[in-house]
Amino acid sequence: MNKVFLCRETVREETRAALVPGDIKTLTTMGYDITVESGAGEKIGYTDDEYSNAGAKIVRSPDEGYKLCNIIVRINKNDDIGGIRENTLHISSFDVFNQRNAIKRYAEAGIKLVSLEMIPRTTLAQKMDIQSSQASLAGYYAVILAASKLPKIFPMMMTPSGTITPARVFVIGVGVAGLQAIATAKRLGARVEAFDTRPVVEEQVKSLGAKFIKIDLGEMGQTEQGYAKELTAEQIELQRKGQIKACAHSDVVITTAKVFGRKAPVLLTKDMTAQMKSGSIIIDMAVKTGGNVEGSDPEKEVILDNGVRIIGGDSLERFIPIDASKMFSGNIFAFLEHFWDAEKKTFRLDTEDEILRGCLITSDRKIIHKSFIE
Ligand code: NAD
Repeated sequence: MNKVFLCRETVREETRAALVPGDIKTLTTMGYDITVESGAGEKIGYTDDEYSNAGAKIVRSPDEGYKLCNIIVRINKNDDIGGIRENTLHISSFDVFNQRNAIKRYAEAGIKLVSLEMIPRTTLAQKMDIQSSQASLAGYYAVILAASKLPKIFPMMMTPSGTITPARVFVIGVGVAGLQAIATAKRLGARVEAFDTRPVVEEQVKSLGAKFIKIDLGEMGQTEQGYAKELTAEQIELQRKGQIKACAHSDVVITTAKVFGRKAPVLLTKDMTAQMKSGSIIIDMAVKTGGNVEGSDPEKEVILDNGVRIIGGDSLERFIPIDASKMFSGNIFAFLEHFWDAEKKTFRLDTEDEILRGCLITSDRKIIHKSFIE
């Protein structure tokens, strides 16, 4: 198993490519045989010739690639799986918790599905972690987007014409995206406050020069993988109350609060957004998994009666596709490299390996991942 096919993305809004020519060159030198669908890199400025010069063969259609290859690599899941041969390893992000039917169809077609979001969060697998690589870029971009929409500037300015006070930014959820959002807002000169339910985060927030808002929610903690635990309804209510002041005086609120595999909690209700200042910007980065902000919409910006704008900030890394592709490609490269058997010149399909066991969802026409076996 060493024939890799890089597909052109079929999701209209997608701007990234799952592999860039530099990584293809190294994979080819290792012994992988790479085929690329024509146009796969066009949105990030890579021509077919550049992929070809890196050692890839170019094909005109997905079907041609499916016939030639036994490993498929793409950013997003694809619903059209007719033409993919049995036992092909399909590697992509998959949003598995919301795609139970799609998982079944992949299993029935005999496709071995690797969902990149399920790669365990271990030190060894860190370089394969698309969640982290993409979330940190998205966190950066959320701040840039907010700054470009805010009718005032971020830094303090003392000039003969007067003094401008710094913008106030409140970040709710300080994981990978939140930390990068704080760092970016600080670099732009804003006054930043933040909150997260995982107690370990307080030190990280302070080390970036931001203020940690203290809200006592009782027992919280985190999972073994470093994810937040789901709050009870009472805890969510306490959190909302504890955040009212910070929201009301903020020019920008960025929410990134997700609970892995579950719906995101609603942390900003209509009552709370109604108290914010006109012109303030809210970016809800959890909009696709239920949303942290009441009324946020993944498809469009919502302007409230009081002039507050809510932006559904899903997949913001798509706005910076050159770096996002480079990092995604680096993650795929690390995955393919980790499982490369240099002697046998093949991908080592080792289901005892902790990383593969964590992210292989289907195999031998069955759903094999413990989280999805019904
Ligand atoms: P995530 O996207 O699941 O959630 C984003 C943040 O929201 C998290 O910090 C979470 O604690 C927070 N959150 C959830 N509910 C909340 C609520 N009600 N209020 C406020 N905040 C809430 O998480 P993530 O960013 O992917 O990662 C979380 C942590 O996992 C990281 O900070 C890191 O410590 C760890 N991690 C480890 C590795 C690794 O070891 N390989 C890789 C990446 C991340």
